[in-house]
Amino acid sequence: MKQPRVAIVGAGPAGLTAALAAHKLGLSVTVFEKTLDFGQVGGGLVLHSNGLRVLEALNLLDQFRPLMRPCSTLALELPNGTRLSTFDYRKLSIPHNYSAAIMRYHLQEYLLSAVEWAGVPVLTGHRCTGLSYEHGTACLHFANGCDHECDLVIACDGIHSVVRDAVGLQPARHPIGHAYLRAIAERRVDDDLIREIWGPDGRRFGICPLPDDQTYIFCSVPVGGWRKIQKSQLEFWLESWHVFGSRVMDLMAAVDWSQANYSEVHEVDLRRWWQLPVFVVGDAAHAMTPFIGQGANSAMVDALVLMRMLAPALQSGANLNRVGRAYQSLRRPFVRRIQTTSRRLGLVGAWTSAPARHTRDTLMQLANAVTGSGALLLGAGYNRREERYFCLDRQN
Ligand SMILES: Cc1cc2nc3c(=O)[nH]c(=O)nc-3n(C[C@H](O)[C@H](O)[C@H](O)COP(=O)(O)OP(=O)(O)OC[C@H]3O[C@@H](n4cnc5c(N)ncnc54)[C@H](O)[C@@H]3O)c2cc1C
Repeated sequence: MKQPRVAIVGAGPAGLTAALAAHKLGLSVTVFEKTLDFGQVGGGLVLHSNGLRVLEALNLLDQFRPLMRPCSTLALELPNGTRLSTFDYRKLSIPHNYSAAIMRYHLQEYLLSAVEWAGVPVLTGHRCTGLSYEHGTACLHFANGCDHECDLVIACDGIHSVVRDAVGLQPARHPIGHAYLRAIAERRVDDDLIREIWGPDGRRFGICPLPDDQTYIFCSVPVGGWRKIQKSQLEFWLESWHVFGSRVMDLMAAVDWSQANYSEVHEVDLRRWWQLPVFVVGDAAHAMTPFIGQGANSAMVDALVLMRMLAPALQSGANLNRVGRAYQSLRRPFVRRIQTTSRRLGLVGAWTSAPARHTRDTLMQLANAVTGSGALLLGAGYNRREERYFCLDRQN
């Protein structure tokens, strides 16, 4: 039987994971990416149990360990150190019951070099502009004038996915009204704890320990305001964080702000995750707020699950609409729960009214004392129904 030709558009965490999983499962794939050079994508990312399991399934985790600093506990705090919630992943009996902050570009470079080492072609400088589909053959069109024929397309091209839109899959896309900076502080924090601090003015500051003498930090910034702050108000803006305490001020003083990564937060809700010849993966299907740190982790799980479902179907000539239905019914409900919880946490953390914050803080402390494992499992991205997909053995 003729080998189906699979094209992956987008070489972020979703696209590179999809490429590696497809290669391991014996599929022939080509990756197309619009940027020429990823450079040093700014800031960090927190990997949780589910993302770590994807790396393990791809045989990449052990070599990646020196670039991570595992933390078993995540804490939500007020600037005066009052603890609102503690998420202690050691309470869960699941694989990799910890989280680990990493630099984004380390993950990107590491996945990319694994894809290239596997011999999978990655064509950079290819910005996809559209897709046509006739008589079972898809043709991707690129801004550089190239066309590429294939049998299936995996849309891993992020929030504004051209491939998803080209087959008429229309997402609801909402700006959330928050923006964040992600940056690296050249300073070590000693406790192995990921901290998020909620200020009285609705701003938040995150502290995620990295290996060596570095710390990944993230913080709120006015939507659309970073360029102006950076140009003429940086000192004043830095000073405004005083209320967050000396630990935060020390870290902020150790950041090269010209390298900070500014992002506005959007949410994508896509009702249907496939329309042949396209399957949609990662942010293109479900961009989410970053308050649980599950966007990239979930994107990597989507990619692994989809490839594990697609490979046997393509090799046996089975119905691909069935694969689409199975993929969507396994992943979408779980990811929607993560999205919704993350959005709510974001809203509550941004409250500024003193009585509302007082009630919130009291309730969170009470809930923290009695919370079961449900919230922890969601934060870890653990879904029992997905267990079998974390094995890339071709026989399974
Ligand atoms: C402030 C903030 C903090 C975050 N923190 C975390 C965290 O701690 N943990 C976590 O798991 N997630 C986090 N996320 C979310 C995470 O960054 C995303 O969910 C993740 O990058 C999605 O991966 P993806 O591969 O689906 O999309 P992307 O990373 O957006 O990759 C898409 C790729 O497609 C390429 N592309 C786009 N359009 C085209 C085109 N037309 N043709 C060809 N190529 C194209 C892009 O250049 C890019 O390389 C955070 C997000 C924000 C904003």
